[in-house]
Amino acid sequence: MNNEIQRNLQEVKSRIKAACERANRNPEEVTLIAVSKTKPPVAIQAAYDAGQRVFGENKVQEITQKHGLFPREAKWHMIGHLQRNKVKQLLPCVSLIHSVDSVRLAEEIDKESEKLNKVSDILIEVNIANEISKYGVSPENVVPLIEEIHFLKHIRVRGLMTVAPICDNSEENRKYFRQMKQLAVDIMQQNIDNISMDILSMGMTSDYETAIEEGATMVRVGTGIFGERNYNR
Ligand SMILES: *Cc1c(COP(=O)(O)O)cnc(C)c1O
Repeated sequence: MNNEIQRNLQEVKSRIKAACERANRNPEEVTLIAVSKTKPPVAIQAAYDAGQRVFGENKVQEITQKHGLFPREAKWHMIGHLQRNKVKQLLPCVSLIHSVDSVRLAEEIDKESEKLNKVSDILIEVNIANEISKYGVSPENVVPLIEEIHFLKHIRVRGLMTVAPICDNSEENRKYFRQMKQLAVDIMQQNIDNISMDILSMGMTSDYETAIEEGATMVRVGTGIFGERNYNR
């Protein structure tokens, strides 16, 4: 298994590099997040030993457990839906929260960050295709949300994140990735205090290369590194 994870990582990295070359981008602009949800520590260790340092999880309980098992060089990103009552527990373990989609959640992260004397980096999750079943704010509500939270001193909005629709062909999502990039550019041009748009988190195993061609700076790859997930473990 370990060799396989290390081979997969190499493969994903070379595909990232190739996608960057196609788009005339520097591969150093793209951070690979290894999505390790449901995967055991041995699998994460294999990726860590191969040099991977950023891991994505979608459950607070899994992050808090796994965080303690690895050196501080390992960084943990919260990529799943976050409930306000779990923020306090999560904050000491996490370096970026990708999934902020309400004023109340942002306020809670701000309040708990202040208690820890830290400023937490967050992304706004956008439901770019307006799917009924998805978390995230609709594209037209991103600026209103940012305007309500930009003055909070203990959070820093660093950019946007999306989970694009499930697709058979990644070309189907290109338009959504393009809309996300445009949304980020539009927000940047508004020059809102305390808001930067340097992070664009989009693209998963099935579509990360297309996402990179359209401007992703973080891609979240799980299956492509660790293999299929088994939720019935
Ligand atoms: C699970 C998950 C991923 C990774 O999905 P794969 O298809 O396995 O690469 C990426 N982003 C989010 C938000 C996820 O929940």
